[in-house]
Amino acid sequence: MDLEKHDQLCEVLPQFYEEIYLSQENRPEGMNYYNFVVSEVHGLRIKELVDHKEKDVKVVGTFCVFVPDEVINAVGAVGVGLCGGSDFWEPDGEKVLPRNSCPLVKASVGAKISGTCPYFQSCDLIVGETTCDGKKKAWEILDEYIPVHVMDLPQMKREKDNLHWQDEIKIFIDKLQAMTGNKVTEEKLAQSISLINERRKVLKRLYDARKSRKLPISGKDALLISQIAFYDDPDRFIQKTNELCDELDKRISDDISVFNEAAPRILVTGTPMAIPNWKLHHIIETSGGAVVCEESCTGTRYFENLVDENAATLDKQIEALSNRYLNINCACFTPNTGRIEDIIRLYKEYSANGVVYFTLPFCQTYAAEFKKVKDALDKEGIPMIMIETGYSLQDAGQIKTRLEAFFEMLETNRQAAISE
Ligand code: SF4
Ligand code: SF4
Repeated sequence: MDLEKHDQLCEVLPQFYEEIYLSQENRPEGMNYYNFVVSEVHGLRIKELVDHKEKDVKVVGTFCVFVPDEVINAVGAVGVGLCGGSDFWEPDGEKVLPRNSCPLVKASVGAKISGTCPYFQSCDLIVGETTCDGKKKAWEILDEYIPVHVMDLPQMKREKDNLHWQDEIKIFIDKLQAMTGNKVTEEKLAQSISLINERRKVLKRLYDARKSRKLPISGKDALLISQIAFYDDPDRFIQKTNELCDELDKRISDDISVFNEAAPRILVTGTPMAIPNWKLHHIIETSGGAVVCEESCTGTRYFENLVDENAATLDKQIEALSNRYLNINCACFTPNTGRIEDIIRLYKEYSANGVVYFTLPFCQTYAAEFKKVKDALDKEGIPMIMIETGYSLQDAGQIKTRLEAFFEMLETNRQAAISE
């Protein structure tokens, strides 16, 4: 670890968090747990990982929602989602990657090579995947600093692609078994499938609360919870999030809302927002909007669809895993019509009034997919705005102006619908 540089990172986070999160009014009491997790992001959770490692438990870092946490858990290792959500790490990423790589890739690589992310430093293995080109090349570079295992994700969803992904899961199991000396048994995998399904269920419960007309929680807080799900201890996360959801249910029945009811309800779709990327949600929610759902890997793509728990053999369990994971509609697939169907479905389920399409700069896949999504949403009469932005706050004022104009247009639509 480069402790001096790491301290610079830790100096800015509290003020940033205070401004974005703690300044919110009327937050649920249950958010105190997540405040605590953030305050200890480089403290207690790291200590837990170190304690695991002292007991010879391996730590496995992942970047993409296609990597099956069930397998990591079943082999007795600990999985942590690695973030890359801050521009703090981009300059170090640019030392080894082209400047016109997406911020997520640059920051992820920068976090490792700068020696300032204790999660990265705790990992025994990093798992990459062949999703976008930027990531594929980044794994080759990261492998110079830390062992990397790459899962070859197919880019289509035919039967042969499913069989290929099952093979990749088997190879991943072999890799983890060799690294840990532990065996993945049917029993252990069944327990892990059930645990990770429970994490999905509690996230779904959280998101269901956001379908309410009166919103019991802000979009920013819901995003933070999704981001924390990637690295918190799963059992504790499930327990704490269920407790929070009990409070949200009570708020809904007591008609408590964190937003004015006239605030336009916004569905955000697009590239993932890795912690601490809270920028767009913060701008939306301080410009008069309310984020009700994220069609994103730090949102619905992470928890929708459960793994079938009825498989009787290891092969059948692997098939069930493959079936569930290949239901994720990432823009790296072609065609990816399932994502368009998801956006329209979620727009209706969450009673949204408009869609914000978010892409990180230089993210070709999501930027190129915009046209297909726009054409389909136009046909449905769903208003959408595209915001391409990185981690730096320099363009925040400009985005705010655009969003305010978009929200005004949504309000005009709403008034027109009332008077019809
Ligand atoms: S957007 Fe695609 S590549 Fe990125 S984390 Fe999600 S599934 Fe993985
Ligand atoms: S945001 Fe886009 S370019 Fe960046 S890692 Fe994800 S898919 Fe690749």
